[in-house]
Amino acid sequence: MNYKVCTKCDTNLPATTEFFHVQKRGLYNLKSNCKKCTTKYNKSKWIIVPKKTEKTCSHCKETFPLTNEYFYTKTTKAGTVVKKGCPPINKDSVSFRSVCKKCNSKQTTIREKRKLMIKYIDNPFVRKTKYDYSKGLTSMERQRICRIKNKGYDPETYDVEWKKQWLEKTKANRKYDYPDGYDVVPKSLIQKAVSDHMTDAFIANRLGFKLEDVPVDVLELKRKQLKFYRDVKNKKN
Ligand SMILES: [Zn+2]
Ligand SMILES: [Zn+2]
Repeated sequence: MNYKVCTKCDTNLPATTEFFHVQKRGLYNLKSNCKKCTTKYNKSKWIIVPKKTEKTCSHCKETFPLTNEYFYTKTTKAGTVVKKGCPPINKDSVSFRSVCKKCNSKQTTIREKRKLMIKYIDNPFVRKTKYDYSKGLTSMERQRICRIKNKGYDPETYDVEWKKQWLEKTKANRKYDYPDGYDVVPKSLIQKAVSDHMTDAFIANRLGFKLEDVPVDVLELKRKQLKFYRDVKNKKN
């Protein structure tokens, strides 16, 4: 058997692949350093990546210690392709989930509720709703339709109908008569009506006082004066 001395640690070792790595140009086709020394050298060249001790939840963006207390783990089965274009992994691998336990639980309940909803909607034996709703409506829209139908209206024409009724009501409540054709009476017309009717508030305003500060007889006097002015003006015209 041939022997070879390692140039690093000066040990005399059998010149076999058990103690030396293969190198074509070396003595006996082996490296000059023994396997132990090569490993030592390689290890000294490694860059040690510090293990992560914290993790930021991808949902709430809070950072927690990377432990079982804050994160659930998941197991990826052997044979799963983790990265596109890479060969499938050959061992089951356990890793922490990307969302924290709190967010994970919330998401799970939401998912379960959704599943229940689907079951509920598709099940024909479930308690019938008061009215038939078309599919794809949100609960808010359903509530609105229910409210309208409870009042005895058709949801399709409710907006128009409601506006019509509202107009009739406001028209009936108007203090003065206005020309037709106004849904909302312009301010200028209201002012003109108030001025024509010479309300107490209008006269107090003319005097430059608050209505409650003006005695009734003063109001009357001012009204008479205004009326006189207007009559004179009308005669001139
Ligand atoms: Zn050696
Ligand atoms: Zn979270």
